Amino acid sequence: MAARDDTPTMKHALDVCQHMSHIPERVELFVCASCQSAYAGSPVKTETGHSYEAPDVCSGCDGEEFVAIEQWPHYESETNQ
Ligand SMILES: [Zn+2]
Repeated sequence: MAARDDTPTMKHALDVCQHMSHIPERVELFVCASCQSAYAGSPVKTETGHSYEAPDVCSGCDGEEFVAIEQWPHYESETNQ
């Protein structure tokens, strides 16, 4: 008794299209060091693509020091004496 090997296999192994180079964009956030307001960075073109820049002046308190939100917890603990 032969196995039924005439069953059509319609599976196509075409899901190899995983583009490793495609990284989802994430907007960088900056925190004002004075009043802790958060601002979305302005996109700036660079050689590798683009990055985000902190605003020049805080519209809330006129502060000029901004910390990237990833660095903010470290920034706070370093200055907290
Ligand atoms: Zn501020």
